[in-house]
Amino acid sequence: MSPVVGRFVVILLVSLLSQSICLAQNTLGLVTTKNIQEARQQGDLDLADKLAEQYLQSALEQGNRTEQGRAWMAMAANAMERNTYPLAQERLQQALAIFQEQGERKLLADAYRQMGRSYRYQSNYQPALDYVYLAMQIYQQLQDKAAISDAHSNIGVILEKMGQYQEAILAHQKALELFHELNDAEGIATTIFNLGDIHRVLGDHQTALDYFQDALRRDLEAGTPKEIAYSHNKLAYQYSTLGNFELAREHIEKAIRLFEQIQAPRDLDWAMTTLARLELESGNLSSARQILEGVIQRARENLYLSLLVDAYRMAAEVALKQEDSAGALTYIDAGVIQARENVERHDEALLESLRVQAHLQQDAMKEAFQALERQKQLDDALLDEKRMSTIATVQAQTENIRREQQIELLKKEQALQQAKLEQQRLSRNLWITGLLACFIILFMFYKRISQRRLNANLTREVARQTDQLQKQNAELERAYLKMEAISLTDKLTGLNNRRFLESHIEADMEHCRRLYQDWHTGKAERPHNADLVVFLLDMDNFKGLNDQHGHLAGDAVLKQLSQRMEQVFRHSDFLVRWGGEEFVAVARFISRSDARQLAERLRQTIQDGPFALGNGQTQQQTASIGYVCYPLDVETDGRATWQTLMGLADTCLYAAKQSGRNQWIGIESLRQEPGNLQTLQTQSLPQWYAQGRVELGCSLTDPEQIQWSNP
Ligand code: GH3
Ligand code: MG
Ligand code: MG
Repeated sequence: MSPVVGRFVVILLVSLLSQSICLAQNTLGLVTTKNIQEARQQGDLDLADKLAEQYLQSALEQGNRTEQGRAWMAMAANAMERNTYPLAQERLQQALAIFQEQGERKLLADAYRQMGRSYRYQSNYQPALDYVYLAMQIYQQLQDKAAISDAHSNIGVILEKMGQYQEAILAHQKALELFHELNDAEGIATTIFNLGDIHRVLGDHQTALDYFQDALRRDLEAGTPKEIAYSHNKLAYQYSTLGNFELAREHIEKAIRLFEQIQAPRDLDWAMTTLARLELESGNLSSARQILEGVIQRARENLYLSLLVDAYRMAAEVALKQEDSAGALTYIDAGVIQARENVERHDEALLESLRVQAHLQQDAMKEAFQALERQKQLDDALLDEKRMSTIATVQAQTENIRREQQIELLKKEQALQQAKLEQQRLSRNLWITGLLACFIILFMFYKRISQRRLNANLTREVARQTDQLQKQNAELERAYLKMEAISLTDKLTGLNNRRFLESHIEADMEHCRRLYQDWHTGKAERPHNADLVVFLLDMDNFKGLNDQHGHLAGDAVLKQLSQRMEQVFRHSDFLVRWGGEEFVAVARFISRSDARQLAERLRQTIQDGPFALGNGQTQQQTASIGYVCYPLDVETDGRATWQTLMGLADTCLYAAKQSGRNQWIGIESLRQEPGNLQTLQTQSLPQWYAQGRVELGCSLTDPEQIQWSNP
């Protein structure tokens, strides 16, 4: 990897990492939403408020609307912690407006849920339920399973508070199913805890105990200290109710220790009220009262308003048990004021019933009656409220079903839209494919045409080049033939040369042999004109001519000689300058009986007229001739080679020279033993002649005068 690319990758990773951290914590300036949450959980609400203010300020400076919404959410959570629900709701309204405007659906849903929670804490269950359903609608659209399960859980708790236990259990079951699906151990434990609470409220304490124990076991597995502490607290309460004070004490002590550890002051005081109840029920009245006094003081300081009402109520109960009716009435008065402020009518009614008891203790019957009146009014109002809320719940459920149907409809619409889009995409793809196919076809068409054009050009070019090649070949052929002709022609006389004869004579000899063979084998009649006669001619005393008249004169004679030979022989016969002043003539396919006549005509033609010497002079010239006929023996022979024939002709020529020149001597037939031909030596010819095995032709009148060798 190059350094530049490497640096780029590092920057990318760092920016991604910092972005993901920002997303998890939502940092603005030096504050993170996590800082605020931590301060809140540690009970330092002043700090939490300060941090949230800073966060909002930074968001405003940056003009970041979404972060402003988050700041309002954090501030609302702080207000919730202080139980100042109207303030929390104001802040949540701010957040809701921003999230709606920004289209931040997930955050909008979270704000709705928080709003629902705030109304629940106010015991105003109808709007609580409405808000949670609003949140639920968005979560379902976003298919956010974790949030959906939490919302079910919230709905369950609200329904329980509304006394809709069966519906509440159903909601918790839905939550439980989803938590199982998501493997959310904490969610499962919370739901079991909530289910246990319903059983507790319904008076099924044993089942409630089982649920709480199960919840504790799961919380211990999950290891979340706050949840563990809650479960211990609930178990303590339950054991206390069942009269098992020992186990109750064990659990409450554990809960208190844990709340202290995690620094959760409000929860700690909540546990302290449980401890106070335990002391109350086990008869330790002064201890109970002491604990409650502490709780009351801290709750007033820290504005734990709901807890404060509970503490006043319990303290009143303790005072009554201690027969301190005046003290009890003090607690009751304070409790009623706070309960009214908190709009906690149920608690107010309970306090009024305690007031009845306190006045009875004082024998103040009139006041007791008035308190009873007041309690009855409250109970009636509560009953009314409950009836109303039951109707409202049914309405809410109907509304919920309607909303769920709307969600279904929305889903179907989305699916339809998706299908439409898919169809559009498909038809677009079809168009593209069609266009592409057209383009490809056109391209192929074009390619084909251009290929054809190219082929035509190529064919033309090939034809042109072939034509040229043919011409060149013809030229070459002509040149070759010329060269061959040159190489086979004698320059001086224009006759063929020795090479020509040697390359043609074998074919003639072969033909000749076959003709006689056909006769021998009976395939044909005895052939006529089937012989070859080879004449070898040598000019007589040519050296002398050269010496006397010069070489050019000799050349002129040789030229004329060739012309005279052409007159003697047929056009189809071979005429060859054998070398120097020696010539060979092959009379082809004649009868050997004509050989003498030809030899004599040749001799005569040379001797007859004088030769022009080219220098104005002429000169009489003669030539000696030796010849031989082929086949040597017409009866048997056919195997003599060309060399043998020439050797025999030369022997005859030599004999003609020896016998006086201007003579011809030829072998017309050579009878021999078969197989003896190889042993035939030209020197032995005279012997053979003497033995009568040779038939000779000669120009000498008496063949006996032939001189075969030097005389
Ligand atoms: P003989 O009768 O015994 O043949 O006598 P000759 O003088 O012809 O003797 P030979 O055949 O031994 O000599 C041949 C001579 O022919 C020698 C040479 O001077 C001559 N000759 C050979 N070739 C040529 C040629 O191309 N041109 C000329 N002008 N003379 C040639
Ligand atoms: Mg010679
Ligand atoms: Mg000669």
